[in-house]
Amino acid sequence: MSIDTAKGILGDATVAELEAGLRGTVVRPDDAEYDRARAVWNAAHDKHPALIVRCAGTADVIRAVEFARSQDLLVAVRGGSHSIAGFSTCDDGIVIDLSPMKGAIVDPVRRRVVAQTGMTWGDLDHETQAFGLAVTGGLVSSTGIAGFTLGGGVGWLVRRHGLASDNVTAAEVVTADGRVVRADQDENPELFWALRGGGGNFGVVTSLEYQLHPVGPQVLGGLIIYPLEQARQVVTGWRELTGNMPDELTTLINFTTAPPLPFLPPEVHGTRIAVLVGMYAGDPAAGEAAVAPLRTLGTPIVDLMGPMPYTGMQTLLDPLWTAGAHNYFTSAFIEPSDAALDAVLRHHLTTPSPSSELHLHQLGGAFARVPAEATAFSQRDSSVLCNVIARSPDPTDFDAQIAWARGAREEIARHGRGTTYVNFTGDAAEDKVRAAYPGAVHERLVRVKDTFDPTNLFRLNQNIRPSKAA
Ligand SMILES: Cc1cc2nc3c(=O)[nH]c(=O)nc-3n(C[C@H](O)[C@H](O)[C@H](O)COP(=O)(O)OP(=O)(O)OC[C@H]3O[C@@H](n4cnc5c(N)ncnc54)[C@H](O)[C@@H]3O)c2cc1C
Repeated sequence: MSIDTAKGILGDATVAELEAGLRGTVVRPDDAEYDRARAVWNAAHDKHPALIVRCAGTADVIRAVEFARSQDLLVAVRGGSHSIAGFSTCDDGIVIDLSPMKGAIVDPVRRRVVAQTGMTWGDLDHETQAFGLAVTGGLVSSTGIAGFTLGGGVGWLVRRHGLASDNVTAAEVVTADGRVVRADQDENPELFWALRGGGGNFGVVTSLEYQLHPVGPQVLGGLIIYPLEQARQVVTGWRELTGNMPDELTTLINFTTAPPLPFLPPEVHGTRIAVLVGMYAGDPAAGEAAVAPLRTLGTPIVDLMGPMPYTGMQTLLDPLWTAGAHNYFTSAFIEPSDAALDAVLRHHLTTPSPSSELHLHQLGGAFARVPAEATAFSQRDSSVLCNVIARSPDPTDFDAQIAWARGAREEIARHGRGTTYVNFTGDAAEDKVRAAYPGAVHERLVRVKDTFDPTNLFRLNQNIRPSKAA
């Protein structure tokens, strides 16, 4: 059967020839597994690619890139498929699916890991924790390491060890012309700079090498839940404490609606709450003293902060973030002034669905000590990252929910420099890309794009347009 693409028709023989050159497989629209293979985490993006190439290794990626270029196909690159903006799928183009590529080699002596980019954080934590090591990973274990790291990567170790991208020591990249290049401090240093925050603009990254750190296996972590009436005193008290917290402790406040979970009293179910979530990445006994003031910011409905395995903390939130719902995220780096917190609290009162919420991520520590020019993720001087989330199992009225999130973000962003975080951005619009790469950072990214992808083959991302396409 021939396949329609945006640019013409792909004949059977052409696709068969592609497949014959792979160790992996090709999924076509008439294959039984097509619907499963095309699904991404965010159900808001229901696309029908012409082909899904499931790559078994770098050689398959080279082949897929060359095929896409020769057939003039729109290219989507997929690792963990968590892109909020839906960049890891497309209509009538090719999906380069790296999810079968899950190899990792840990060097416990040098404390390094080389990881293939189909891994999720659940996969990588499993491998590194076998040696008592870890690198900053996502708050939800099904998130892919690649998209997460290329955009920055904020997790429970961010204040202790920086972003995931701050810990990348090298990358292997298949470029738009099908070459395989290494990027590190010495080889292709500008590409290395761009990959750490600049997203999937510069090629298909087939492996990432990370610096690892001793973490766990036990940490102190969990959540403390406060009622709406105490939300203001909790968030202002939290703000005062964040100035003096040790780097080992990373926290966030989630303004949300209480789900019907058994550890919550029934009368709380469905009410608005403020949830303080945090982890102390050090000796759990020392962590007790660090988290003690968080327990008395008000009178908790429930206090579930305690010693647990690091892998338990990394999967703690998984049940709340299953695939298949409609999701939109939008974000702003801010300073938590009284006016900023007023805005957050006001929008908490108008969340359009029980699973829509506002998160305040605490930054600072090791994150802030990385010089702004060291990586393409340059926004090191804000103390808080606010993520506004519209999430609903039901597509009805989802546009109105997105409008709520955008409105909230616009107001909250006034309490910062208007900048945003690519990984928490459901939009592809040019102004959001500019907001993620302020000042000279955008121009520097364009120069790297001009070198490695001058025709914009990789454009399904927060796109840095090459200068000839501008
Ligand atoms: C439930 C959930 C929890 C999250 N938690 C966090 C969090 O704690 N902290 C945080 O910082 N972010 C978080 N995010 C945001 C997350 O970092 C981004 O959505 C990220 O893009 C996901 O990466 P992925 O590999 O799973 O996604 P994919 O959808 O597979 O990829 C996203 C994009 O990244 C690029 N890309 C992916 N792999 C490659 C590759 N190998 N080479 C080149 N480009 C590539 C492509 O442009 C692709 O479209 C979360 C998202 C979700 C949905």
